[in-house]
Amino acid sequence: MATLDLFAGDQPAPSQPDRSRVQALHGILHRYAHQYYVLDEPQVPDAEYDRLFQELQALETSHPEWVTPDSPTQRVGGKPLEQFAPVRHAMAMLSIRTETDTEASGAQNFDARVRKELGLALSDPAVEYVAELKFDGLAMNLRYEHGVLVRAATRGDGETGEDVTQNIRTIGQIPLKIGAADPCEFGLAVPAVLEVRGEVYMRRDDFEAMNEKQRQKGDKTFVNPRNAAAGAVRQLDPGIAARRPLSFFAYGLGEVTPVEQGGPDFGTHFDMLQTLKHWGFPVAALVERARGATELIAYHQRIGQTRNQLPYDIDGVVYKVNSLALQRKLGFVSREPRWAVAHKYPAQEQLTTVLGIDVQVGRTGKLTPVAKLAPVFVGGVTVTNATLHNEDEARRKDVRIGDTVVVRRAGDVIPEVVSVVLPADTVERGAEFTMPRVCPVCGSAAVREEGEADYRCTGGLFCGAQRKQAILHFAQRRAVEVEGLGEKLVEQMVDAGIVKTVPDLYRLGLTALAGLDRMADKSAQNVVYALEKSKQTTLPRFLFGLGIRHVGESTAKALARHFGKLDTIMDATVEQLLAVADVGAIVAQSLRTFFEQPHNREVVQQLRACGLTWEEGEPAVQAPQPLAGKTFVLTGTFPTLSRDDAKDLLEAAGAKVSGSVSKKTDYVVAGAEAGSKLEKAQALGVAVIDEAAMMDLLRQT
Ligand code: NAD
Repeated sequence: MATLDLFAGDQPAPSQPDRSRVQALHGILHRYAHQYYVLDEPQVPDAEYDRLFQELQALETSHPEWVTPDSPTQRVGGKPLEQFAPVRHAMAMLSIRTETDTEASGAQNFDARVRKELGLALSDPAVEYVAELKFDGLAMNLRYEHGVLVRAATRGDGETGEDVTQNIRTIGQIPLKIGAADPCEFGLAVPAVLEVRGEVYMRRDDFEAMNEKQRQKGDKTFVNPRNAAAGAVRQLDPGIAARRPLSFFAYGLGEVTPVEQGGPDFGTHFDMLQTLKHWGFPVAALVERARGATELIAYHQRIGQTRNQLPYDIDGVVYKVNSLALQRKLGFVSREPRWAVAHKYPAQEQLTTVLGIDVQVGRTGKLTPVAKLAPVFVGGVTVTNATLHNEDEARRKDVRIGDTVVVRRAGDVIPEVVSVVLPADTVERGAEFTMPRVCPVCGSAAVREEGEADYRCTGGLFCGAQRKQAILHFAQRRAVEVEGLGEKLVEQMVDAGIVKTVPDLYRLGLTALAGLDRMADKSAQNVVYALEKSKQTTLPRFLFGLGIRHVGESTAKALARHFGKLDTIMDATVEQLLAVADVGAIVAQSLRTFFEQPHNREVVQQLRACGLTWEEGEPAVQAPQPLAGKTFVLTGTFPTLSRDDAKDLLEAAGAKVSGSVSKKTDYVVAGAEAGSKLEKAQALGVAVIDEAAMMDLLRQT
């Protein structure tokens, strides 16, 4: 957990510029930069770092005599790690000036500065720029000699970076060898020395998938894609780096064989990027030429609107003067070129306070701890809730009421609490989070099954949060089947408050139904008929319809066959349940937990009272299972049986009915118009029979 020496966010800016504040800012910024660049473990959001950095810049602008060479404003990045061989850059890897004004004026300021530096008059034509995305990853210098990748180095402190060649070689998008030295369509051969600069990053979906895996394994999650990428690149074990999903975009050059020695003569930055693309480097498609401030503003706005849909994080856009001759003319200030600027967007991570921790119940009964936050503007919206995912994660991050936390909202991903930041003088904190053992919505037991990260409410049929899902599941064709009761209608009924539990469906009158929006009398009548018809059902359908976790159709059938009666199933012990062929420990426990909830028994009772009936039989003493161990696949239309009936007959004889053909399939039963499954069976040499042969098989056995 992070602690702060000085809780910078709480420090009021002194009314009179004060030199001691400069010293304090040096200390804080050096520490944050070390954590960010060297340890890949930032303790505060970038927005917080940027805010303090700008405060220092402003103080230094008003008092140039306060600028010292060790000021964070005069430095690039962080010191290289000693574990890696140092690489002295042939050309320094600099920073980019940041235009923090996220409004359109940010682009205007840059254009005005460039025009002034170039001595252009108002009447002179607009300057041509290249507008690019500012990827949020890690800068990389790739050195190719005679077309072969010989070294990859991080930026480090700008002068000296770290040799991470082994790890970079594991990134599929980075060419290890580039085209023979033939001239390309731009008339340019690959030069003897070519350094390509770009960003190693992690796509958002790759990042989410990787974190989900970590969560399921109960391991520490990564803070954001930028840190996950930086951590992977600076792994000492290339095997680990290879398993991290990294990507790359090229955006510039380092040392290149000079033109006089046969090197390429690029006139513009844009042409250079096209050539890099031609040589096999990934270059982002959203690179555009723009004339003057107006077109830069339009680009900034356009990208800002689609930023959330991009598959990777960007924290802004970069504008670069297109003509390389003009770039040379403009030159550099201490740590940044004058011909480029980064124009930011609102930050995707911010600091805020936890006001409470609620537990929400999802449609499927999953319990999720959610931090209630003091409203904070992050990722372009005001956020007041952020997910803590599950109990383990909330405890691992040790989020407590009253804490200051980093909140992240990137893309359309649900906002989440990334980490806790505590002032160093914290003495008292709220209580540690524990997951309630009962569902906060319905009071049923909440259980966490072995090997699972989530708690779930067991009151499936009763729980308000799971209403819509439970009703849809019950009414589906393979369960009790209420024709015409689809998602939209269920949504309407529940939202209108006329249906709260499954039995309520059967208590609905025509009037209540016809009162729903866009419900014609005829349709209402049809629903009433369908409900009436569904009352006559079968035990397996009813059992499956109850939505007991892990009890699918075939388990429901096996249970019905084995026990014969619903009451016997409801009262069966775990041992008795385990005697059923299809039932293992997890299913048995799930059935027990379900029927131990008085609410669930009550719902079953009410459904019976509403008139739902099914045939019950005697328990199968030792039902013969002549086809046990055999796998069947059904395809096409049969002359007399429906597919479901055929499936029932086969399963009753102990066979498994699968949806796809493989070498393990014993028989494919093919009817009229059988398609690809039949072809596959023939290709694999699986026995193909028709309905009559299947019936013979059942009779013989
Ligand atoms: P910068 O913002 O000055 O920009 C330069 C970097 O931008 C390059 O090194 C390159 O990696 C990257 N880049 C992405 N797309 C590019 C493109 N199209 N063209 C050129 N470069 C491109 O970077 P910096 O100096 O490394 O660091 C400043 C950033 O780091 C800020 O956003 C700051 O908030 C963050 N930071 C955060 C903390 C923290 O504690 N959270 C600490 C230090 C720095």
